[in-house]
Amino acid sequence: MTGIVVLGSTNMDLVAFVAHAPERGETVTGREFRTVPGGKGANQAVAAARAGGEVAMIGAVGSDAFGPQLRHTLESCGVDTDLLRTAEGPSGTAHIVVDDEGGNAIVVIPGANGTVTALAPGEEALIATADTLLLQLELPLSAVLDGAEAARRHGVRIVLTPSPAQPLPPELLAATDLLVPNEHEAATITGIADHHAAAQELLRQVPEVVITLGSAGCLYAARGTEPISVPAPAVHAVDTTAAGDTFVGALAVALGEKKPPRQCLAWACAAAALSVQRPGASSSMPYRAEIDAAS
Ligand code: AMP
Repeated sequence: MTGIVVLGSTNMDLVAFVAHAPERGETVTGREFRTVPGGKGANQAVAAARAGGEVAMIGAVGSDAFGPQLRHTLESCGVDTDLLRTAEGPSGTAHIVVDDEGGNAIVVIPGANGTVTALAPGEEALIATADTLLLQLELPLSAVLDGAEAARRHGVRIVLTPSPAQPLPPELLAATDLLVPNEHEAATITGIADHHAAAQELLRQVPEVVITLGSAGCLYAARGTEPISVPAPAVHAVDTTAAGDTFVGALAVALGEKKPPRQCLAWACAAAALSVQRPGASSSMPYRAEIDAAS
């Protein structure tokens, strides 16, 4: 039995640190270069595995040099990659320029992720063994819908992170059990800036919503119950990359353990707060013992 299956993206982030980002036609000399395994799908898989979940990943890495590195990152965290495909061609990459003011500019090239247009044989059977399917929007929408339909057929809980923000097909929302947007994504989907009002609007389409609110924690709303606000622990944040993915991974683990909603949310907030205190994406994600100690 695999508790959590992630159907999502794997990317190698290629990060250049510069004083200021180059203008068109300009060449600048940067200070540092780092390759950082990422992609929202892989990040959520690592977060859930470190938080103590039994996790399997569906998606694709490329046949280039990054493919084995991305696969190894998942495996070294205990993520089952038996069905993670290797697609002919480049892995997904994110080309990131970070300037001295902490601003960034990013080009994402989907690469292998773009080849995942539908579930392959065996992948539905894997989803059927899970308690929860984690979905994001960095794979082609046809595959996300395919995964959602498979999960529905087998009574598997669907947790959707609607990122990158975009209007969502009604059939995807209709299949979703729990939607976890950040404030910006909630506003994009609903056209409503106020997050309380946005949550109520989203409840017309999904039974449960968690809107993450950065240093303000999160707001949980479910049909027929009073909304729950959970504050984030007050911490010194040095890098909020993948805080949302850490939150979702930990939340999925807590939900699978059938804890009450407020306890699940507080535990996920504790996990995300630990991740923002350390630099990096998957490298900053906490292990279960640390989350327990912090919550
Ligand atoms: P976000 O995607 O920015 O909404 O962040 C996701 C989650 O990470 C939030 O719901 C918080 O639990 C946590 N988080 C983000 N930023 C901070 C911060 N500065 N301090 C503490 N927790 C944070």
